[in-house]
Amino acid sequence: MKTNKRVGAHVSTSGGVFNAPLNARAIGATAFAMFTKNQRQWKAPAYTDETIALFKTNMKECGYTADVVLPHDGYLINLGNPDPEKRRRSLDAFIDELTRCQQLGLSLLNMHPGSHLREISEDDCLSLIAECINRALEMTEGVTVVVENTAGQGSNVGYRFEHLATIIDRVDDTSRMGVCLDTCHSYSAGYDLSTRDACEKTFKAFDDIVGMTYLCGMHINDSKVPFESRKDRHHSIGHGTIPMLAFEYIMNDPRFDNIPLILETIDDTIWPEEIKLLHGLELS
Ligand SMILES: [Zn+2]
Ligand SMILES: [Zn+2]
Repeated sequence: MKTNKRVGAHVSTSGGVFNAPLNARAIGATAFAMFTKNQRQWKAPAYTDETIALFKTNMKECGYTADVVLPHDGYLINLGNPDPEKRRRSLDAFIDELTRCQQLGLSLLNMHPGSHLREISEDDCLSLIAECINRALEMTEGVTVVVENTAGQGSNVGYRFEHLATIIDRVDDTSRMGVCLDTCHSYSAGYDLSTRDACEKTFKAFDDIVGMTYLCGMHINDSKVPFESRKDRHHSIGHGTIPMLAFEYIMNDPRFDNIPLILETIDDTIWPEEIKLLHGLELS
C-alpha cells in the first residue's frame, strides 16, 4: 500500500551524529529525530568536516531528505529564563544548535518553548522566548524553529495553543517558524483525543488558533497518565491512556501527510513494531 505518512523515532547518535540515519533505517523508519549534540551538556566540540560529510553521505544512502528529519534541542536550554545571564547562555546554546542543523544540511529544529520558573508571568516568558528566537534567526540561515507544545508540567509554557500562537506572533520572520504537536503532551494538557469528534475539535482549535500550515512535525506518543493531568510521561503506543483511535485518526488524515511523525516512546526495542503498528492503522 502506498503511504504518505513518514513515521520514525528519536534515534541514537551514539558514536557520532552520522549514525542517526543508519539507526533510523535499521528500524524501518521513513523519518527520524535526533539530538545534534549531548542533550544534557551546555557545550560540545564543533563538528569536523568529516562528521558533516559522513552525515550527508548516510542521509543520501538511507534515502532521507531534510524535511523528514526533526532534530530536538538540548534539555538545558530555557529561552524564557527570567535571569538575563542564564537566558544568554541558553540563547548561545540554541544558536549553536541551529548552526549545527545548518551545517548538517537540515532544515528544522524542534524546541521546547521554555519555563518562567514562577518568577515572571507566562506572557512575559513568551515575550522573552520570542525575543531569543528573533536573535537566533538573525544569526543563522535556512533552519526553521519548530516550537513543541508541552504537557504544562511545572512552570513550562507552551501547553495552550494560544502560547504557541503568541510566540509566532512576536517573531519577525514567521516564514522560519513551525510547530510540533506531541500527542502525549496535548492529551496531558487537556486537548482531548479520545473520540473522533474530540480529535476533530482539538485539531480545529489548533488550526483556528495557530494554523495548520505551521505544523512541521508530530511526536506520536501514548501517555502513562490520565487525560488533563499536566504531566509529561510517555508510554508505548497502545499501552497508555490515549485510545488507539487517536493514532488511527492521525494516520488517516491527509493533514499529517509528509511531515515527520516521531515516536518518543519508552521502549526503543519495539520501535520497528510500533512503526508497523501505526502503518497498519492506515485504511486503504
Ligand atoms: Zn515530544
Ligand atoms: Zn514529552
